Amino acid sequence: MKRFGLLLIFGVVFGGLPSALYGQPSAAPPVPAARSGMDLDKLAEEAIEWLAGLIRIDTTNPPGNELAAARYLAEILQREGIRAEVFESAPGRGIVIARLQAGAIPDPSRALLLLGHTDVVGVEPERWSTNPFGGEIRNGYLWGRGALDDKAMVIANLAVLVALKRAGAPLRRDLIFLATGDEETSGEHGIEFAIRQHWEKIAAAFALNEGGRVLVKNGRVHHIGIQTSEKVPVNVEVIASGTAGHSSVPRSDNAIVRLARALTRIAEYEPPVQLLAVTRRYFEGLAAIEDGEAGRWMRALEEPGRTDLAAARLGAMNPVWNAMLRNTISVTLVQAGFRSNVVPAEARATLNLRLLPGESADSLVAELRKRVDDPNVRFEVAAPSRYPAPPSAIDSELFQTIQQVSKQFFPEAAVLPMLSTGATDSAQLRLRNVQAYGLLPFPLTEEDLARIHGDNERIPLDAFRAGLRYLHRVVAEFVGAAKP
Ligand SMILES: [Zn+2]
Repeated sequence: MKRFGLLLIFGVVFGGLPSALYGQPSAAPPVPAARSGMDLDKLAEEAIEWLAGLIRIDTTNPPGNELAAARYLAEILQREGIRAEVFESAPGRGIVIARLQAGAIPDPSRALLLLGHTDVVGVEPERWSTNPFGGEIRNGYLWGRGALDDKAMVIANLAVLVALKRAGAPLRRDLIFLATGDEETSGEHGIEFAIRQHWEKIAAAFALNEGGRVLVKNGRVHHIGIQTSEKVPVNVEVIASGTAGHSSVPRSDNAIVRLARALTRIAEYEPPVQLLAVTRRYFEGLAAIEDGEAGRWMRALEEPGRTDLAAARLGAMNPVWNAMLRNTISVTLVQAGFRSNVVPAEARATLNLRLLPGESADSLVAELRKRVDDPNVRFEVAAPSRYPAPPSAIDSELFQTIQQVSKQFFPEAAVLPMLSTGATDSAQLRLRNVQAYGLLPFPLTEEDLARIHGDNERIPLDAFRAGLRYLHRVVAEFVGAAKP
């Protein structure tokens, strides 16, 4: 009931938002209504139906089942006269690639890749107020797993391709559509497969992907975070050993106790604050629009001698800010024992490290080893499934286009480069010299965003419409289709 009450309130609040939030760009150059204005409105309603259909294809990963989603998307593209190719990466799994070409031959050196993933994380259906794979439209929202992460982005990307195709305007750059799968685990059957097997079809100088945000606060777009870099996940096993035996004869070298002691010491360690070019720009920009205490502490980050205190205060206000400022360590799994009357010989825990770009797991583990200071506790660094990638430039043509279009659409909002604490498919692209940016284009509140990987995921329909319009303008400006 509580949930339901909240939903009703939210529906009303959203319905009453000023039209400036979701409306037309305030200072956009005039575009003939017949070509992009009304058509885009109609297309947005079609795209909502496409999104509902995509949500109804259960692509919970594992096992993924993304091939059905890839075929579904290919069908829509083909109906629009856009050639789409589906590739099976493993039984039942697959990706789809399509292209609008500017010239006679493909030109990756200027191309823009629109990337999204069709797989989703699992659900606990009993905690949902609706069928997570029902694609239900209710109270101004489209509900379902993937409504935000990442099926809305996939469909918005697809709809932008369709809009440009329908408009028939000549392009200055190739525009490539790629829907991967397997993003929620290793990427092996998704982005890795696409890069390994079909690079010539997706090679591009620039890419747009998930990972950024258009954040709504107090009924207004507060800032636009463009993800230019991301932290790198690495798992480390901590293994404590001791003497096994009967529990009736306790010993001082109990492996579980030893592990517990080690974990406490690990938890007490906070890696040092490191300001990168991107986080520096992010906090400077945010400080200018955050009022009160948060803004003051953001400015204090750069003051000699106050950095640590500032980071601690900011971290207490928002743990994501803390995670953007340093390497982090989370204990995520513990395994020990098999019988209540047996002391086991070994106890182990998994640490999930999130490293700032350019940081090495080995030096962080060396520090942990020193602090644990126990020869019977060893550390094993797992092979990384994601790789450290160089950041994308914050002055590239695409970044500038996003900035300009953002100013037209959301004139009061700050546009900030952002380091995401989570990993995306963009890292694999950046490793191949693609300037990849995370831009989830839909204006969303923290409350909306918190449903990603949570219960009752949903997208406000108005946010979808506004996000599509905004993304369309960014892409159209960049590939040249907006120019008469
Ligand atoms: Zn995602």
